[in-house]
Parts: sequence; structure tokens; C-alpha cells
Amino acid sequence: MASNGAAAGAARKKLNGYVGFANLPNQVHRKSVRKGFTFTCMVVGESGLGKSTLINTLFNTRLYARKEVPPPHAERPKTVAIESISADIEENGVRLKLTVVDTPGFGDFINNDDSWKPIVDNIESRFDAYLEQENRVNRAKLLDNRVHACIYFIQPTGHSLRPIDIEFMRRLHQKVNLIPVIAKSDTLTDDEILSFKQRVLNDIAHHRIEIFHAPVYDNEDEETIAENEEIIRKIPFAVVGSDQEIDTADGRRVRGRAYPWGVIEVDNEAHCDFVKLRQMLIRSHMEELKEHTHDALYEKYRSEKLVAMGVTQDQSVFKEVNPAAKMAEDRALHEAKLAKMENEMKLVFQQKVAEKEAKLKQSEEELYARHREMRDALEKQRMELEDKKRRLESGRPLTPEKQNQSYQQATKKKGGFLRN
Ligand code: GDP
Repeated sequence: MASNGAAAGAARKKLNGYVGFANLPNQVHRKSVRKGFTFTCMVVGESGLGKSTLINTLFNTRLYARKEVPPPHAERPKTVAIESISADIEENGVRLKLTVVDTPGFGDFINNDDSWKPIVDNIESRFDAYLEQENRVNRAKLLDNRVHACIYFIQPTGHSLRPIDIEFMRRLHQKVNLIPVIAKSDTLTDDEILSFKQRVLNDIAHHRIEIFHAPVYDNEDEETIAENEEIIRKIPFAVVGSDQEIDTADGRRVRGRAYPWGVIEVDNEAHCDFVKLRQMLIRSHMEELKEHTHDALYEKYRSEKLVAMGVTQDQSVFKEVNPAAKMAEDRALHEAKLAKMENEMKLVFQQKVAEKEAKLKQSEEELYARHREMRDALEKQRMELEDKKRRLESGRPLTPEKQNQSYQQATKKKGGFLRN
């Protein structure tokens, strides 16, 4: 009898006739089509960089309604919000449940130091939800809401990455497949795009940030390998988004943006890298993105979390660590949490006191202003009375009209003053 280990060295045998397992890929294909696919993509970048437009352009659907531009003095939210939109889309009988996680508010504040935090929390809570399902007794159908790709929109400044970009990528690169794109690249010339891309790549390498690269496998055909290498060369993709169709000078109808000097075509590789981004994200590497999320990113998170919970792995056997040490560690964690909460409360208190002080100062200034106003009005009234007195004393009686006029002025001022 063959031992279990014999499989590794299994000899190649020739078949004497058709057996049928060559049909396995078709079986997998049919099953996947029946089940449908899911994909969750996050978009991050300051408002107005074209995130919703690009998502609509990528999936060729109005996933996002046209956004209302808020009036200039409208109250803005004070934190980064996380919003997700899902849609069931279908192409040639293949169904895809697409979820887009938007992060409005990112980078929009005066102080953006912690803009990355709600985003990391959101990604981790999705990992936690998956881990919780895996730990259930019945785990027949796992719902995968993990973020499979994060498109990070870089402002088309033409300089280099800003501190907020670096901070965000550093915090996120080991939790999500990062896909940096240069937003609104139609605002830069070809040369500017080339040098900007190089600087962005240098910054990414300098800060040891890992971004998603389409993997190149040796056993694939030459054409696929060449395509993948071409995709890699375009990173960070310089994109242009538009869900409008426009007529070109040569009579074609294209998705693009019209300028006095011509039309920038979204789907034209000579104009921007939109096609390459779509190729990687949807047409060739969606499954790779999901696999890397599961096998590398989630796996890292899961094992770190289990280790933090006191579970260690010893040659594939899980065993509990010393309970006393575990309790001490738990207590330390709890105390650290309490200290953090206390700190946060202190900060909130200080902020509230500062706000109250500012309000009091403003009321004080208003009172002073009112006081000055009243004093000036009284002074004016006093001068007028003095003047009247002088006239009376000098024996020049006022004419009846003058008397009436000055009486009316005095009562008007008094009344006005009292009303105030
Ligand atoms: P979001 O706030 O990041 O979702 O940005 P929107 O998608 O709402 O776009 C903001 C504005 O930029 C809109 O007026 C879009 O028409 C415009 N826009 C979107 N994509 C591009 C682009 O690639 N180039 C240029 N020049 N403008 C764009």
C-alpha cells in the first residue's frame, strides 16, 4: 500500500482513454457563475479628486448619483465618515455584487493627523467579522465583507507625495491591497506625469510601502506575462474619469472630457492609464486581489490577533500560554485601555473648556462694545443739553420751531436708546 507521503513523488501515468477530469475548469467556472462574485473596493482621497466619477467610469454604471456641491458656509462633518454602497451588476450572465467603501472627509480638515485611523478601524472590523464567522461552529457560508482593494487618490500636484499620503499608506499597506492613482491626470502634461510618477515611486520605496503589484507567473503564456509587466510599468496609474459621452472631431462618441483644444478620452491608452487600471482591477486581477487579501493580509492580521489573545502555534498544534502570564497581560492591556480613555476624556474636557472660554470672551467683547455705544450716546445727549443751557443762559430764547425740533430730537434719542 502506498503511504500518505507517496503523493509528493507520484509517478506520471499515461491514460488509455478519455476520463473526463479535463472538464474540471469548466465545472469550477459553472459553479462560480452560479454563485456569483463579490468584490469590495475602497476609495480614499480628498473630496473633489474624482473618486465617485472614477468608480462610475470603472463599472460603467451610475453607482454614485451626481454629488451636490455643498454651499461654501455649510457645516462640514468633523470626522472621516465611512459609507458603503452596494450594487448587483451583471455582464453576460455573470453576476457581481460590488461594494464601494467611500471615506468622505479624508484629508479635508485643518488637522488631518488621524484621518487614517477610522479607515484602519473599518478595515480591521471587517477582518474581525470574518474571523468571528470562521470561529463559529457552523461556518458553512462565510460572508466576505473584507476590503479587497483600496484605490488611493494622489493629488495631481506634480511635486511628490505629501505627508498625509505617506502616513496613510504606511498605516494601511499591510492591511489592504493599495492601488495608488494620480487623480485628474488631465491637469498635468505627459512629461509632468512621468516625472511625478517617478517621484511618487521613489517616495513609496523610501518609506518601504508595499503597494499591490500584479503578480507575474513564469508558467503563464508570453502574452499574459507581457500584459502584466505593462500594467506594472504604469503604476501609479494616471487616471481620468468621466461618465459623460462626447463627440470627437473625427465623429466618434467616446467617454471623456472636452477641452477647448480637444477631447481627453478615458478609454484611450494614449491619453491616460484608466484602461490599465480597469484591466488590473476588474479584468485580470480581481481574483488575485481577493486571494492576496485572504492569504496574506487577513492571515497576518488573524495570526497577530490570535497571538495577542494568547494562542500560540506549535507545529500546527495550538496551545494556551501560561494562564498567570495571560492574566497579567490582560490586566496590562485593560489598564492601558483605561489610561487611553482617561486621556481622551481629558482632551475632550480641555476642548470644552476652551470653547466655553472663547464664548465668554466673545460675550465680554460684545458687552464692552455696547457699553461704549451707550456712553457715546449719553455724551452726545449731554453736549446737546449743555448747548441748550448755554443758549438759555445767554438770554437768546429758542424760536418755537427750534424748541420743538430740539424736543423731538431729545425724545427720539431717548426712545431709541431705551429700545436698544
Ligand atoms: P469626489 O468628491 O472625489 O467623489 O469627486 P467627484 O467624482 O465628485 O468629482 C469632483 C469634480 O471633479 C466633478 O466636477 C467631476 O466632474 C470632476 N472630475 C472627476 N474626475 C475628473 C478628472 O479625471 N479630471 C478632471 N479634470 N476633472 C474630474
